[in-house]
Amino acid sequence: MLTENLFVGLARRKQRILTNVSWLKIQPGNVILKDSISKLLGEVPDEKLVEQIKTIAGNETEHDMQIHHIHLHSYGEHQEITFHIRLPNIMSVEDSHALVTTIRQSLRETLSIEATIHVEPSGKR
Ligand SMILES: [Zn+2]
Repeated sequence: MLTENLFVGLARRKQRILTNVSWLKIQPGNVILKDSISKLLGEVPDEKLVEQIKTIAGNETEHDMQIHHIHLHSYGEHQEITFHIRLPNIMSVEDSHALVTTIRQSLRETLSIEATIHVEPSGKR
């Protein structure tokens, strides 16, 4: 009896969750929810910001870093940016880290944005 009640209770709870999920799908407010989620997950920033990032980062090195995969993440007022750069595959970890630290500092000072930068090797030996 107790087990049976437990299953009935779980089935009802599952039904309620499913109902709530389908309710979310059809509500106009879901557009706002979807917008908020994509802001958290990261969006491609506008062209002006992309150019600013490329210019600021590019001023820190002679290497053609081929900046790509730029995403802007917004948490209310706080913004963070993530992107990839390519550095020579023979560049030391120490030098790569120093360059990335400098780029992050420049972006923080000029745009007030925290950056997370993923480094990829460019070229093969
Ligand atoms: Zn990449």
